[in-house]
Amino acid sequence: MKTGVYAGSFDPITFGHLDILNRAEKLFDEVIILVAENKRKKELFSLEERKKMIEKVFEKKEKVKTEVLDGLLADYMKEKKHTFLIRGLRAISDFDYELQHFTINKQLNENIETVFFMTEPEYFYLNSSLVKEMAALGGNLKELVPEAIEKKLKEKLGK
Ligand code: ADP
Repeated sequence: MKTGVYAGSFDPITFGHLDILNRAEKLFDEVIILVAENKRKKELFSLEERKKMIEKVFEKKEKVKTEVLDGLLADYMKEKKHTFLIRGLRAISDFDYELQHFTINKQLNENIETVFFMTEPEYFYLNSSLVKEMAALGGNLKELVPEAIEKKLKEKLGK
Protein backbone atom coordinates (compact mmCIF):
# COMPACT_ATOMS: atom_id res chain seq x y z
CA MET A 1 0.00 0.00 0.00
CA LYS A 2 1.52 3.29 -1.12
CA THR A 3 0.69 6.25 1.11
CA GLY A 4 1.34 9.90 0.35
CA VAL A 5 1.29 12.49 3.11
CA TYR A 6 0.13 15.91 1.98
CA ALA A 7 1.26 18.25 4.72
CA GLY A 8 0.27 21.89 4.95
CA SER A 9 -1.55 24.46 7.01
CA PHE A 10 -4.75 24.32 4.91
CA ASP A 11 -6.18 27.40 6.65
CA PRO A 12 -8.53 26.86 4.85
CA ILE A 13 -8.25 24.20 2.13
CA THR A 14 -8.68 25.71 -1.38
CA PHE A 15 -9.31 24.48 -4.92
CA GLY A 16 -5.53 24.74 -5.40
CA HIS A 17 -4.96 22.12 -2.69
CA LEU A 18 -7.78 20.01 -4.16
CA ASP A 19 -6.13 20.07 -7.56
CA ILE A 20 -2.88 18.72 -6.08
CA LEU A 21 -4.86 16.07 -4.20
CA ASN A 22 -6.76 14.90 -7.28
CA ARG A 23 -3.49 14.38 -9.08
CA ALA A 24 -1.77 12.73 -6.10
CA GLU A 25 -4.64 10.24 -5.82
CA LYS A 26 -3.58 8.78 -9.16
CA LEU A 27 -0.15 7.95 -7.76
CA PHE A 28 -0.99 6.76 -4.24
CA ASP A 29 -3.37 4.16 -2.80
CA GLU A 30 -4.04 6.43 0.15
CA VAL A 31 -3.46 10.12 0.76
CA ILE A 32 -3.25 11.54 4.26
CA ILE A 33 -3.91 15.25 4.55
CA LEU A 34 -1.78 16.29 7.47
CA VAL A 35 -2.92 19.57 8.98
CA ALA A 36 -0.02 21.39 10.58
CA GLU A 37 0.63 24.65 12.34
CA ASN A 38 2.64 27.22 10.39
CA LYS A 39 4.19 29.69 12.79
CA ARG A 40 4.87 32.14 9.95
CA LYS A 41 1.16 32.50 9.23
CA LYS A 42 -1.67 34.05 11.21
CA GLU A 43 -4.25 31.33 11.78
CA LEU A 44 -7.98 31.77 11.29
CA PHE A 45 -9.24 28.24 12.01
CA SER A 46 -7.89 25.96 14.74
CA LEU A 47 -6.20 22.73 13.63
CA GLU A 48 -9.25 20.68 14.69
CA GLU A 49 -11.61 23.03 12.82
CA ARG A 50 -9.50 22.67 9.67
CA LYS A 51 -9.48 18.87 10.04
CA LYS A 52 -13.29 18.77 10.35
CA MET A 53 -13.71 21.07 7.33
CA ILE A 54 -11.42 18.88 5.21
CA GLU A 55 -13.23 15.72 6.34
CA LYS A 56 -16.50 17.27 5.19
CA VAL A 57 -15.04 18.02 1.75
CA PHE A 58 -13.70 14.46 1.39
CA GLU A 59 -16.50 12.56 3.12
CA LYS A 60 -17.15 10.47 0.01
CA LYS A 61 -13.52 9.66 -0.71
CA GLU A 62 -12.25 6.61 1.12
CA LYS A 63 -8.71 7.07 -0.15
CA VAL A 64 -8.32 10.42 1.60
CA LYS A 65 -7.76 10.63 5.35
CA THR A 66 -7.16 13.66 7.53
CA GLU A 67 -4.91 13.96 10.57
CA VAL A 68 -3.50 16.75 12.70
CA LEU A 69 0.27 16.96 13.13
CA ASP A 70 1.52 17.15 16.68
CA GLY A 71 5.27 17.84 16.71
CA LEU A 72 7.77 17.54 13.90
CA LEU A 73 6.83 16.30 10.44
CA ALA A 74 10.09 14.33 10.11
CA ASP A 75 9.30 12.46 13.37
CA TYR A 76 5.70 11.78 12.30
CA MET A 77 6.92 10.27 9.02
CA LYS A 78 9.42 8.06 10.86
CA GLU A 79 6.95 6.97 13.51
CA LYS A 80 4.20 6.09 11.01
CA LYS A 81 6.73 4.61 8.55
CA HIS A 82 5.59 6.86 5.72
CA THR A 83 8.05 7.75 2.97
CA PHE A 84 6.30 10.06 0.53
CA LEU A 85 5.59 13.67 1.29
CA ILE A 86 3.38 15.54 -1.17
CA ARG A 87 3.76 19.27 -1.82
CA GLY A 88 2.46 21.62 -4.47
CA LEU A 89 4.40 24.20 -6.45
CA ARG A 90 2.93 27.43 -7.75
CA ALA A 91 4.88 30.55 -8.65
CA ILE A 92 8.68 30.71 -8.44
CA SER A 93 8.37 32.14 -4.93
CA ASP A 94 7.26 28.71 -3.66
CA PHE A 95 10.48 27.10 -4.82
CA ASP A 96 12.82 28.64 -2.27
CA TYR A 97 10.47 27.89 0.62
CA GLU A 98 9.92 24.30 -0.54
CA LEU A 99 13.66 23.77 -1.00
CA GLN A 100 14.28 24.90 2.60
CA HIS A 101 11.70 22.42 3.87
CA PHE A 102 12.96 19.66 1.61
CA THR A 103 16.51 20.16 2.90
CA ILE A 104 15.63 20.28 6.59
CA ASN A 105 13.31 17.27 6.30
CA LYS A 106 16.06 15.28 4.55
CA GLN A 107 18.49 16.16 7.34
CA LEU A 108 16.04 15.09 10.03
CA ASN A 109 14.79 11.97 8.26
CA GLU A 110 16.73 10.75 5.26
CA ASN A 111 13.96 8.36 4.24
CA ILE A 112 11.53 11.12 3.27
CA GLU A 113 10.97 11.49 -0.46
CA THR A 114 9.18 14.70 -1.38
CA VAL A 115 6.95 14.52 -4.45
CA PHE A 116 6.08 17.87 -6.05
CA PHE A 117 3.08 18.51 -8.22
CA MET A 118 2.89 21.64 -10.33
CA THR A 119 -0.36 23.48 -9.97
CA GLU A 120 -2.74 24.00 -12.87
CA PRO A 121 -2.28 27.55 -14.23
CA GLU A 122 -5.74 28.58 -13.03
CA TYR A 123 -4.64 28.02 -9.41
CA PHE A 124 -1.24 29.62 -9.76
CA TYR A 125 -2.06 32.61 -7.59
CA LEU A 126 -4.55 30.98 -5.28
CA ASN A 127 -3.54 30.67 -1.64
CA SER A 128 -5.29 30.50 1.72
CA SER A 129 -4.28 34.04 2.71
CA LEU A 130 -5.95 35.45 -0.40
CA VAL A 131 -9.09 33.46 0.41
CA LYS A 132 -9.13 34.88 3.96
CA GLU A 133 -8.70 38.42 2.65
CA MET A 134 -11.47 37.99 0.12
CA ALA A 135 -13.76 36.43 2.70
CA ALA A 136 -13.14 39.26 5.17
CA LEU A 137 -14.13 41.77 2.49
CA GLY A 138 -17.26 39.81 1.61
CA GLY A 139 -15.92 38.81 -1.83
CA ASN A 140 -17.18 35.96 -3.99
CA LEU A 141 -15.39 32.72 -3.07
CA LYS A 142 -17.08 30.35 -5.54
CA GLU A 143 -13.98 29.93 -7.72
CA LEU A 144 -11.62 29.64 -4.76
CA VAL A 145 -12.97 27.12 -2.24
CA PRO A 146 -15.63 24.36 -2.03
CA GLU A 147 -19.07 25.43 -0.85
CA ALA A 148 -18.73 23.83 2.60
CA ILE A 149 -15.56 25.86 3.21
CA GLU A 150 -17.18 29.08 1.99
CA LYS A 151 -19.98 28.50 4.49
CA LYS A 152 -17.52 28.04 7.38
CA LEU A 153 -15.58 31.15 6.37
CA LYS A 154 -18.74 33.23 6.38
CA GLU A 155 -19.74 31.83 9.78
CA LYS A 156 -16.30 32.54 11.23
CA LEU A 157 -16.12 36.07 9.89
CA GLY A 158 -19.76 36.87 10.52
CA LYS A 159 -20.38 37.72 6.85
P1 ADP B 1 2.18 25.61 4.29
O1 ADP B 1 1.80 26.67 5.27
O2 ADP B 1 2.82 24.39 4.92
O3 ADP B 1 2.93 26.08 3.08
P2 ADP B 1 -0.23 25.55 2.71
O4 ADP B 1 -1.57 25.07 3.15
O5 ADP B 1 -0.07 26.99 2.41
O6 ADP B 1 0.76 25.05 3.80
O7 ADP B 1 0.24 24.71 1.46
C1 ADP B 1 0.43 23.32 1.49
C2 ADP B 1 1.05 22.88 0.18
O8 ADP B 1 0.10 23.09 -0.87
C3 ADP B 1 2.29 23.65 -0.22
O9 ADP B 1 3.21 22.77 -0.87
C4 ADP B 1 1.78 24.68 -1.19
O10 ADP B 1 2.77 25.09 -2.11
C5 ADP B 1 0.67 23.90 -1.86
N1 ADP B 1 -0.36 24.78 -2.41
C6 ADP B 1 -1.07 25.72 -1.79
N2 ADP B 1 -1.91 26.38 -2.63
C7 ADP B 1 -1.70 25.81 -3.85
C8 ADP B 1 -2.22 26.05 -5.16
N3 ADP B 1 -3.09 27.03 -5.41
N4 ADP B 1 -1.78 25.27 -6.15
C9 ADP B 1 -0.86 24.32 -5.91
N5 ADP B 1 -0.31 24.05 -4.71
C10 ADP B 1 -0.72 24.79 -3.71
